[in-house]
Amino acid sequence: MKRTNSEALHEEALKHIVGGVNSPSRSYKAVGGGSPTVMERAQGAYFWDVDGNKYIDFLAAYGPIITGHAHPHITKAITKAAENGLLYGTPTPHEVKFAKMLKEAMPGMDKVRFVNSGTEAVMTTIRVSRAFTGRSKIMKFAGCYHGHSDLVLVAAGSGPATLGIPDSAGVPKSIANEVITIPFNDPKAFQEAMDQWGEEIACILVEPIVGNFGIVEPKEGFLPLVHNIAKEKGALIVYDEVITAFRFHYGGAQDMLGLTPDLTALGKIIGGGLPIGAYGGRKEIMEQVAPLGPAYQAGTMAGNPASILSGIACLEILKQPGIYEELDRLGAILEKGILEAATKHNVTITINRLIGALTIYFTDVTVENYDQAEATDGEIFGRFFKLMLEQGINLAPSKYEAWFLTTAHTEEDVMQSLVAVDHAFSQLA
Ligand code: PLP
Repeated sequence: MKRTNSEALHEEALKHIVGGVNSPSRSYKAVGGGSPTVMERAQGAYFWDVDGNKYIDFLAAYGPIITGHAHPHITKAITKAAENGLLYGTPTPHEVKFAKMLKEAMPGMDKVRFVNSGTEAVMTTIRVSRAFTGRSKIMKFAGCYHGHSDLVLVAAGSGPATLGIPDSAGVPKSIANEVITIPFNDPKAFQEAMDQWGEEIACILVEPIVGNFGIVEPKEGFLPLVHNIAKEKGALIVYDEVITAFRFHYGGAQDMLGLTPDLTALGKIIGGGLPIGAYGGRKEIMEQVAPLGPAYQAGTMAGNPASILSGIACLEILKQPGIYEELDRLGAILEKGILEAATKHNVTITINRLIGALTIYFTDVTVENYDQAEATDGEIFGRFFKLMLEQGINLAPSKYEAWFLTTAHTEEDVMQSLVAVDHAFSQLA
């Protein structure tokens, strides 16, 4: 596959954009290096790069593009929004309609506030939790990503209940001291950490179904235990549903799992491809937020008509019957085909899949926590990634990411991707 235009553009980008990319995960650093493919156009399940190569896309922009690229219903909504003026700085009827739609879909949200990204949404849920509880520490699970605000760029210390160390330069040690990181799916570690710190904790950040070290579901009983102990200690539960909301069904992981958090952070899918975030939760907690309460949060672009109308259009598509059943059907075909190819070529993998999202791990271990995901073979993943790219299959360039099916993928796309997987595995063996 010729990629000379991509390479030249990346060289040019390196001169002007830091690292040549506008988000580090877009670089190919984690898959052995090389120029990231520069995409020019996207339609449905496909990408075309600047060299004219066509790809089947399973990146889906790291999640938001669940209806495929340039879905006509969303494009129409955005065009209409642009014609009517892009930004008002006043309330609009659209945001009220959208807030109601989100509330109806996710019962844990008495009140909603729109922001511009998942990072902002999570960051604000932390501030609101602190305002409500009067406490300052937070707890999170190792390997879960909650955006790039200071507090959540903190990694675990060595033990299950140690204070954090900064995971990024520029995050002061004093901030890391406010964060406790423990392993996901480990009731004992959670109990111990809560025994030690529980009464100082404002909130526990939870990806209820993990999407950031691959797709990892909570073990039976784990989240109910987290909820119970948090309640006992007076700590709030914040669900980070930036990936999970509307990914697996029309609603959140919370209503799938039958658990109601105190606060929820949203992003990605709810913008239909435009920048958005939202947070919401119990009325008395949300009433901490200005102008009602003392916790400040604002945004020039927040609730802008284009993002809101794009989000409404996206949810209208997802609300149609059969959408998630079809994602599940195609996901099952993909999973089965990949496992068969692995057996045929003697490649050791395990797969975690839920509906239309899956992760291949190059390991013989079923991945349930971050340490297990970290221990999987990144070198083989890097080779697999490039073998797939070479055959026109666009995956996320990281062993920790998921493949995302969209409503635009067809069975033919899946079968074609399986032919590519078969070939890639034959080369790995
Ligand atoms: N929370 C989760 C679970 C995410 O996966 C992400 C982004 O990948 C974020 C928060 C941050 O969202 P954004 O990139 O929109 O700031």
